[in-house]
Amino acid sequence: MSQARIIDGKAIAASVRDEIASRAAALLAESGARPGLAVILVGEDPASQVYVRNKDATAEACGFHSVKHTLPESTSEADLLNLVETLNNDAAIHGILVQLPLPGHIDESKVLRLIKPEKDVDGFHPVNVGLLNAGEMKSALVPCTPAGSMVLLKRTLGDKLSGQNAVVIGRSNIVGKPMASLLLQESCTVTIAHSRTRDLPSVVRAADIVVAAVGRPEMVKGDWIKPGATVIDVGINRIPAPERGEGKSRLVGDVAFDEAVGHAGAITPVPGGVGPMTIAMLMANTLTAARRQLGLKDEAPLF
Ligand code: NAD
Repeated sequence: MSQARIIDGKAIAASVRDEIASRAAALLAESGARPGLAVILVGEDPASQVYVRNKDATAEACGFHSVKHTLPESTSEADLLNLVETLNNDAAIHGILVQLPLPGHIDESKVLRLIKPEKDVDGFHPVNVGLLNAGEMKSALVPCTPAGSMVLLKRTLGDKLSGQNAVVIGRSNIVGKPMASLLLQESCTVTIAHSRTRDLPSVVRAADIVVAAVGRPEMVKGDWIKPGATVIDVGINRIPAPERGEGKSRLVGDVAFDEAVGHAGAITPVPGGVGPMTIAMLMANTLTAARRQLGLKDEAPLF
């Protein structure tokens, strides 16, 4: 059995970051402005702290103006809304990201809806959801993980997406639904599978492109994959790894990689596939947001 080509998300994300850094330098020379990103973290969730640190450091490395607001767990909803409003009105800030999840006493959707759609670099505001679904890509800001998955697909398949059967497993607002929308815009024939889908293996077997965004370790088996299909594994699952020592763990995707690699034509690994693309696309969105707010045209897409 032939082995799939491994899609190197780490290398592709690095090339995207380099491109963003050089576009940001050109923007500074052209307009005197740096893309400005504000990231808000409420509380002490350790995973969120790592994500926020990485976003801040990557923004700095791309030459952006980067601001981090770290607020205590006890922050009131009113205070958080006030901060978002201040950032909405700050001309040096072009992108606002509120790290999720928020503490239980804060209404997440109220906070996300207050962010000005043109500064909503996560792409979660209903206005951006609508623009994406309407195909208005010159105005929309697209959620980072599906946008990054799309870059990986285009770098792998070039202009061969049109007419392909794509199956997205998972229907979340953050990944599954926007991913399906992006694939549809590329003229794929799109199926969205989810927890109530009947006979998932046979649905997946019909797919030329499989995007797995479920959150169940190695759920998609190798013999579900059509020979030669392209597999994008969005899942990030931590499982026990006693072979590495007591109490150790490791990350796996939603696809049984060791099996699927013998069936697929190309596949993303976990870690090192979609994961690194998410932050790279946050930088891309911040740059796009900055250009639009400065009255400049969007640059060429990143693929
Ligand atoms: P979610 O829990 O919001 O959605 C999961 C989806 O999977 C649901 O729509 C559900 O219908 C579907 N599902 C659940 N069980 C199923 C089953 N047995 N068969 C078919 N479908 C099933 O999750 P999410 O936020 O979309 O994230 C999905 C995965 O992607 C998680 O592992 C998450 O950690 C990962 N993720 C990775 C990144 C990244 O940067 N790479 C970003 C976001 C999410």
